[in-house]
Amino acid sequence: MNYELLKRKLLNVLFPIDCAGCGKEDEWLCQDCLLKLPLGRKADCFFCEKENQSGMTCPACAANHNLDGVFVCADYSDRIVSGLIKKLKYSFARELGEVLAEIACRYWKKIADEDRFGKLSPQKFIITPIPLHKKRYNWRGFNQAEIIARYFADRQNFAYQDALVRVKHKTPQARLGGAERRENIAGCFAAHGENLTGKKILLIDDVATTGSTLDEAARVLKSAGASKVWGLVIAKG
Ligand SMILES: [Zn+2]
Ligand SMILES: [Zn+2]
Repeated sequence: MNYELLKRKLLNVLFPIDCAGCGKEDEWLCQDCLLKLPLGRKADCFFCEKENQSGMTCPACAANHNLDGVFVCADYSDRIVSGLIKKLKYSFARELGEVLAEIACRYWKKIADEDRFGKLSPQKFIITPIPLHKKRYNWRGFNQAEIIARYFADRQNFAYQDALVRVKHKTPQARLGGAERRENIAGCFAAHGENLTGKKILLIDDVATTGSTLDEAARVLKSAGASKVWGLVIAKG
């Protein structure tokens, strides 16, 4: 038996494929449970959580942040959502990224129907994932943010660009507190590829906690000329 097949079989034992909602076999999330999943309801400033119409960063927080706003698709306290995100991180099952992207597509339709974009003209967004460092990428075999980003861009007809690279490999953010996270992530990204002057970027990640990774990525993209940088995450947790 080759190594890949062995790994696959082992992972199937550790992470059997069944619906995170109802347990039905052979699917990570069945259609019924996907349709029932509660989507993000309120829009607020990601940093201070003051409510507003679109999810933009409020003027007070904008003074010391680079991100113009964040779309949060679902609720991390929902056990299906947090379960899928954890499984994507640890199970090496890349199809899970597409399940999460499907949640993002449903959320996007909902906020479009509710006319939440205002003057944002979201059709001009270029989709960019938060990159992984090569070392981590090689270990996991894929970047979960990239899988979500590519699927989302494809389904929504957005342009896609790998506009960032990760130039430093650091301790995973999850083990750190707020101020340490900001320090830890500083200098980790560099702009990459085509000219970004005047471009509007939608940065994709699976989950954001304090927003320091997205904010640092936004800083780098704006230094490279991007005019607006928003984030889209499946959940805040
Ligand atoms: Zn189900
Ligand atoms: Zn704020």
